[in-house]
Amino acid sequence: MAQLNPGKLKLELFCKGIRIDESCHPENEGRALTKIRAGLGSGLELILPDDLYCNVPVLESFAKDSPFRLVAEDGAYYVNRGEERLCRARLAEKPRWYDARTSTGRPMTEIGSMQGTTLAFYPTEVCGFWKMEPRMNCRFCATGLNVSDAALPTVDEVVEVCRAARREGTTFCHFNAGYMGGSSLDVLKPYVEGVKKRTRLLVGVQAPPQKDLSKYDMMIDAGADHFSFCYEFHNPEVFARVCPGKQKYLGQKAFFDALEYTTEKMGKGRNSGEIIAGVEPLEDTFNAVDYITGVGAFPTICVFRPVVGTDMENEPSPKYEDMLRVYRRMYEACRDNSVPTGIAPNIKTSLVVLPYEGRYFRDGYSGADAAYALKLGILRRAFRVLYRAKLMFG
Ligand code: SF4
Repeated sequence: MAQLNPGKLKLELFCKGIRIDESCHPENEGRALTKIRAGLGSGLELILPDDLYCNVPVLESFAKDSPFRLVAEDGAYYVNRGEERLCRARLAEKPRWYDARTSTGRPMTEIGSMQGTTLAFYPTEVCGFWKMEPRMNCRFCATGLNVSDAALPTVDEVVEVCRAARREGTTFCHFNAGYMGGSSLDVLKPYVEGVKKRTRLLVGVQAPPQKDLSKYDMMIDAGADHFSFCYEFHNPEVFARVCPGKQKYLGQKAFFDALEYTTEKMGKGRNSGEIIAGVEPLEDTFNAVDYITGVGAFPTICVFRPVVGTDMENEPSPKYEDMLRVYRRMYEACRDNSVPTGIAPNIKTSLVVLPYEGRYFRDGYSGADAAYALKLGILRRAFRVLYRAKLMFG
């Protein structure tokens, strides 16, 4: 088997998808294909070498022409490019709690789901942009197609799922809400508070920015460890065209204000600006990366996926060579701004290439790279000790 770079393979799989050979039956093993939230999680959860989780597109039309094939042989899975075998891969394991029910009798999968090693919840009604007439949803988004109309979970039910997931090694859970006027953080607060107090998991929050910035203080007090702000595009015209609801009711500035406010309060490397690469010109994506790292946050960069059923399903998937440039820039900007990444234990995200995976895109290995790697190593060890102590002693 040829030497391969698993980070670059993950990125190329995001751009090109994979075809599943007849020899494979992933529906009987691993996690079933699930359609969740904005749609990025609608692929096959694979684990590549180096334990890299990757949600690989399989349903989109571009994936049907992919040069990559998943093949099974003697009980093992392999990623092939054409006939060339690239590497062995595993299907992400189905957690035991996927077959369990809460004490109220609901399937736990109705409450939460795993994305890589992150436990994800969408405990609110569907995003308000999907309910407007005419619809004002972001054009790449599938949330309105995917969020079920099952009853919203109670805090107790969410805590039960967190406890079950924690027993299987989960360290981080993530709450997501769409547009709810100015109330999304108020709605999420009891969940964050309940989970933090009763499980001590690390808790992330992703919701449209609130103009009343004091609501972030409220969420930090409730136990939020991390906020991510999906402003999607740095180019104002692309933002307005692709995200009409965000343009009309929020505006780009609200995202910047909230990101800067929370980063100022919580410190470097705690929060993220989330963007989509492959729709706006590359220069704008570079500017986004520079802006986000410049304020001390880390960039979460999604490779644009033209998810089936969305308004952009017929758009092309981005070119791998362009995305390579984006992720190389991401790594260099994090390094040059000394943004800590990958510090918290066991957070392996399958939907994006995270900044801590940026090392795969390094161009050589300079003194600056070595100093950055050393700093991250020290922070990582220190945080792990602290995290274990918090789990044990509160
Ligand atoms: S804000 Fe946009 S991306 Fe987020 S759920 Fe609503 S429509 Fe989807």
